[in-house]
Amino acid sequence: MLSHSLDSLLRCYAVLFLFLLSQSAVWAQSQSYRLGMPEPHTHYYEVTITISDYNKNEAIFELPVWIPGSYMVREYAKNVESVVASSGNKSLKVEKLAKNRWKVSTEGQKNFDLNYRVYAYELSVRTSFLDASHAYINGTSVFMYLVGMAEKPSKLIIEPFKEFKNISTSLKADGSDKWTRLVPNYDVLADSPIEIGNHDILAFKYKGIPHEIALYGGGNYDPKKLVKDFERCVDVCTEVFKENPCENYVFIVHNTQNGGGGLEHLNSTSVLMSRLGYANPDSYRGFLGLIIHEYFHLWNVKRLRPKALGPFDYNQENYTSMLWVAEGITSYYDELLSMRAGYNDHNGYLNTLCGSIGTIENRFGRRVQPVTESSFDAWIKFYRADENSANATVSYYTYGSILGALLDLELLGATNGEKGLDELMRELYLETYKKQNKGYTDEEFKEACEKMAGKKMTDFFEQYVGGTTVPDYNRIFGYAGLELKQETPKNVSLGCSLDDTGGKLLVKNVYKGGAGYADGLNVNDEIIAVNDFRTLSRAQLSEILLDKKENDVLKILVARGGVLLNLSIKLKTDINKVFFFESLNNPSVTQMKIRSRWLMQMP
Ligand SMILES: [Zn+2]
Repeated sequence: MLSHSLDSLLRCYAVLFLFLLSQSAVWAQSQSYRLGMPEPHTHYYEVTITISDYNKNEAIFELPVWIPGSYMVREYAKNVESVVASSGNKSLKVEKLAKNRWKVSTEGQKNFDLNYRVYAYELSVRTSFLDASHAYINGTSVFMYLVGMAEKPSKLIIEPFKEFKNISTSLKADGSDKWTRLVPNYDVLADSPIEIGNHDILAFKYKGIPHEIALYGGGNYDPKKLVKDFERCVDVCTEVFKENPCENYVFIVHNTQNGGGGLEHLNSTSVLMSRLGYANPDSYRGFLGLIIHEYFHLWNVKRLRPKALGPFDYNQENYTSMLWVAEGITSYYDELLSMRAGYNDHNGYLNTLCGSIGTIENRFGRRVQPVTESSFDAWIKFYRADENSANATVSYYTYGSILGALLDLELLGATNGEKGLDELMRELYLETYKKQNKGYTDEEFKEACEKMAGKKMTDFFEQYVGGTTVPDYNRIFGYAGLELKQETPKNVSLGCSLDDTGGKLLVKNVYKGGAGYADGLNVNDEIIAVNDFRTLSRAQLSEILLDKKENDVLKILVARGGVLLNLSIKLKTDINKVFFFESLNNPSVTQMKIRSRWLMQMP
């Protein structure tokens, strides 16, 4: 027995020794990235990935096909060229295995470089850009990773164009060298956009956490006001979760001619703004809503996340049916928190909510596609919207924001105004992210809701979320003593959208349920004449419709693919119902408590 034990003990030591040996070989491997931009006017980045102490005969490098947060395969590899590898003076063979995958034959060389060039001339929050005025980098479109080493730390050494003096990114600097950044792992590199150039930099601290605002492109913003408003946005978001997960945060703002939209990242965001929009109150309010939206993502999606969204598979679509929570509830909060911050009032918020309800309920798509399916198919439908989208799909942003309001009120209603969506999101953040550091499943999200409500929420999850049933708005808004009313328009219409900007009157969308859909009006038809009168603009068509009523027939001459056609269209009442709230007569104390809790504003 003894010898047997000794034998197994020795074997254990031998295994341990071999394990440590293999681990030390892995630990010794290191990697670093070098990013050059010597001729920015050509829009080419030059990338070198240096690998040291590598002990395999082949190394596989991959470039992501998508960027987390924007659910579409974008094929970043299309901009990659001149991929070569070398070890000292020796060239190594590089073979392309797939659209975004390269194999380097190391031929026993432990240290080698992979070099390639990336064309970057698309200024969007999902791509990278380089010109003589600035450099903007999203890691997913520029940096490959060595398969098997993506989890390991590295460094990013930037060689800026000689006239670029500033850099803004949430990647931490290596000591005092601002051009060398520490990369804990590839996910962080991929999720930390970088702005380089001569942009304006504003800074503030929120509860001791450094926040930076990098503004490229000029604009009519007031720096002091901007900082104050951004601080307010940060505060209203943090107050929901009662803690801020960042050590530092960077807002990259690209001011362009007609900018809009943004993308969330781990400790930063990139947003686009119209450079002269800061002085326009509506546009500025919308911009602050966007800042709240992206900052709220720090918790909802970057940390509290559906199971499918992290760790990511960069090679293909990552399917989840929970974008109605990740994006929809974030959209609900950008509107709600804009009100809490004082950028909108109660009526303004309720009008926005009614507008969203109209957008969803007036389109046939909500009867076709459940919001969970809209999320799952975001890759092929939401991000590839076409002229028929309104008839066949529902937006997980817009309908998700309505579901956010309904869920908030369901919870407040079930708990007599004690607990709502704030408490649910905080609880989920603590439980799934902080305690377990994992993503939630559809079932876990539902269970958390039902636990907080203290009741089954079958209608909500099976019919409104997983089905296409119109929610029982009045039961749910009734918790806050409100009634949702709707008014059917009195005017008739063709039930389509039109564009007359090019001097032609063109049909852009034909809505199912409308007159044009029923009687054969097609997308791209050019309307030439109506009832024998030449009709060139939307205004002229509106005048023709003014004295018409339901079931009147219009004679419409259209050009379709170069062929003239006569159509007879029997007019219908316009399909766009108008939604609005009215307060119930004599709401109860509980209803008023829930309403004021729901629509509270921060001091
Ligand atoms: Zn979002």
